[in-house]
Amino acid sequence: MSFFMKAVTGLMKDGSISTNILKEGLKMVVGCGDKVAFWEDGWRDGIPLNIRFPRIFALSMVKDGTVEQFGQWCGEEWRWKVCLRRGDWEKDIWEDFCYLLESVSLKRCISDSVAWNFCPNGLFSVSSFKRCIEEYRDGEDVESVSVWKGFSPPKVELFLWQLLRGRVMVREVLGSFGVAVLGNSCCPLCGGMEESVDHLFLLCAWSWGLWKACMRWWNVQSCVSKNIKEWFGGWNGLCPKSSLKRVWETLLNAVVWTTWEARNQVVFQGKSADFIAFLDLVRFRVAWWFKFHGKGSVDPITVMVENLEFNCVEQNKKKKRKRSHDSWIPPYNDSLKFNVDGSFIRRNERAGIGGVLRDAKGVVLCSFSAGVEAADATAVELLAI
Ligand SMILES: [Zn+2]
Repeated sequence: MSFFMKAVTGLMKDGSISTNILKEGLKMVVGCGDKVAFWEDGWRDGIPLNIRFPRIFALSMVKDGTVEQFGQWCGEEWRWKVCLRRGDWEKDIWEDFCYLLESVSLKRCISDSVAWNFCPNGLFSVSSFKRCIEEYRDGEDVESVSVWKGFSPPKVELFLWQLLRGRVMVREVLGSFGVAVLGNSCCPLCGGMEESVDHLFLLCAWSWGLWKACMRWWNVQSCVSKNIKEWFGGWNGLCPKSSLKRVWETLLNAVVWTTWEARNQVVFQGKSADFIAFLDLVRFRVAWWFKFHGKGSVDPITVMVENLEFNCVEQNKKKKRKRSHDSWIPPYNDSLKFNVDGSFIRRNERAGIGGVLRDAKGVVLCSFSAGVEAADATAVELLAI
């Protein structure tokens, strides 16, 4: 992180309203790229590149340095140069990364600076800071929906956080950045309306159908909200029982993440989004994340998927009785344990796989879950491995 941002953020108490406002309000303005840290400062749109593109960061040959060290001037034109250990993989992510960089033009003779987002002239003033805090308290709708609960993989929580701030790259957002969208700007799932965040994740017939179908597992019905922030804000109020609170929050994450996956399958692979398959994938993910993130569960994943509604409600009672039998045993110190499993629903021949990597303290380091095609339970188990 650049010296300036380190000095400012070091003074802030994490999680307070004023910290959040400062983080949102202080914007790195890149001139010639001499002060801003390329990977760690959120200089492009507030999200540091190493968080937004963790896999590219992992493969980058250079992991620190200022912006100007990641390219060079060719005459009057700035050319980016980010070297990876191996190339030609995950083309979509790499293209997103390049899009983002190409939209910035460096200014040769102007040093980097910091601007205050909430004043038109970019200068910080105590009165504007105070006004922000008041406005923030009036409309806490976004912040009251906390996504950092550890109920699902970190990448999913990061995605939700971005979604609530309108930073998910759907076609409408790309258009507003001036990025040309190939083909049309219609929603890939229904082919109708323009693809906005509110439409894709809530108002679209496909995604609203997914929410309704999942809520029906617990006999819950609801009218659709006006936008995604309102929907998230009211979600816990729809939870039918206090003992279901955790699975209910996990369900929200699973529906959003699975909708995004369905959308990307249509956009990048040209396949249609099979509603029933993705509905089953939500079910598998809820069971999987419920079992391995947060408090954990003693039931086999197959049983949990088959009987999701009952298992998740009764979880706490059962755990007290059965803990001594099936609880997870941590690996030795300095070792990691990778648990994988699969689930096969015979009724409709749908299958899912997942895995979770934990250290000796039981901290989840990474996890995956996905829907797969397989003929029987043994084949699914093999795929999981
Ligand atoms: Zn749609």
